[in-house]
Amino acid sequence: MLESTRRPRLITAGRILLGDGTCIDGAGVVVANGRIERVAPVELLGDELYDEIESFPDGYLVPGFIDAHVHFCFDYGESLSADPEQLVDAQLMTSVASHCRGLLGAGVTSVCDLGSIGNVIQRARAAIDRRELEGPRINCAGRPITTPDGHLRSFGLLASDEAGVAEAVEALVADGVDVVKVVATGGAGTPGTALGLAQFSMNELRAAVCVAADAGLLVAAHAHGTQGIKRAVEAGVHTIQHCSWMDANGAVGPVDLGVLDEMNRRQQVAVIAGPLAEEIAEWLRVVEHSPRDDPASFGVSAQRLLTVWANARAAREHGVTHALGTDALFGQFEDYHDLAWRAQGLVELAGWPEALVLEALWQGGAAALNLTGEIGIVAPGAQADLVVLGGDPRFDIRALHDVRVVFRDGRKTSHPR
Ligand SMILES: [Zn+2]
Repeated sequence: MLESTRRPRLITAGRILLGDGTCIDGAGVVVANGRIERVAPVELLGDELYDEIESFPDGYLVPGFIDAHVHFCFDYGESLSADPEQLVDAQLMTSVASHCRGLLGAGVTSVCDLGSIGNVIQRARAAIDRRELEGPRINCAGRPITTPDGHLRSFGLLASDEAGVAEAVEALVADGVDVVKVVATGGAGTPGTALGLAQFSMNELRAAVCVAADAGLLVAAHAHGTQGIKRAVEAGVHTIQHCSWMDANGAVGPVDLGVLDEMNRRQQVAVIAGPLAEEIAEWLRVVEHSPRDDPASFGVSAQRLLTVWANARAAREHGVTHALGTDALFGQFEDYHDLAWRAQGLVELAGWPEALVLEALWQGGAAALNLTGEIGIVAPGAQADLVVLGGDPRFDIRALHDVRVVFRDGRKTSHPR
């Protein structure tokens, strides 16, 4: 039978977190044609109208998770400077496909892939849309735009002036990307680049924003250093990835309140993303901490990350929308729970309230992907991307690890993990 002729399905749960900070107890979600039709207490929904009813009386139904910064092409610890020719195409597709299934099983129903080799991710996106592959909804940037000696140059599109940047954006539009990624500062993993220094001028970044806008696309800027953040904000990009507030020497400095005001005025989104220091990953894996595990004893790179997270909290408190991303990390955690581990880190190590982390996960993620109202929310008209958790993450953030069932477009996926 055609999907459109089927009657709606009902999914009920002990509690539904709507994704906007509110919840309904003993409620159900009516799903038809991949979208949410109605959300209401069970007693108002009847039961004879539905093709199928699935009940999770002990479960917490929440919006699918949104990872606003992934790289399906790269695994944890892999060099970002490797010659892409060395990566055998078929092998690469196999690992991308397994990351897609793994992430979806971990509750991640939407991602933004911000830098990949060739058009591999566009092909994965198409395979998912044709339902040949199980995976999250993908917004992809394809090849990142960088300078000839810049970060991600080994697989990026190289541009050294405004005309070059404009040409690169046009090439990406032809490649079928959903978002344009510009590498506005140096980055970790590319020798010879400085995280604190800008790679592109303001006018070059503006050229990217203008040409992308002509094609209806937004720009994501990779920016660690304050100089590059400032330029990207003023050029009018949509998201600032990493947003680490580093000075020219790479030291993490304080946030710039004037720039934050500008980000608020322009409704730009900061995405918390980047490698998770191994010491922090180890700390998060421990269930009960002893006083010997004092975070004050962390080494330099872990301390630096904690400062970045503290700055992000200050920026959030200044009103800036934040989203969560994981960056190129697949393999650091075997369970594909990278996003949940980060959410846990923000709460347990950086003092973020659970409510703000969940806001970043859902509302911030939707804003970063420019899909507000479509994803990150359980509401009529939104995509039926839903996760059943075993606990309420508003009171224990570790409940994000307890993924029982995942629905993408209303279809139950086969690999919850
Ligand atoms: Zn990245």
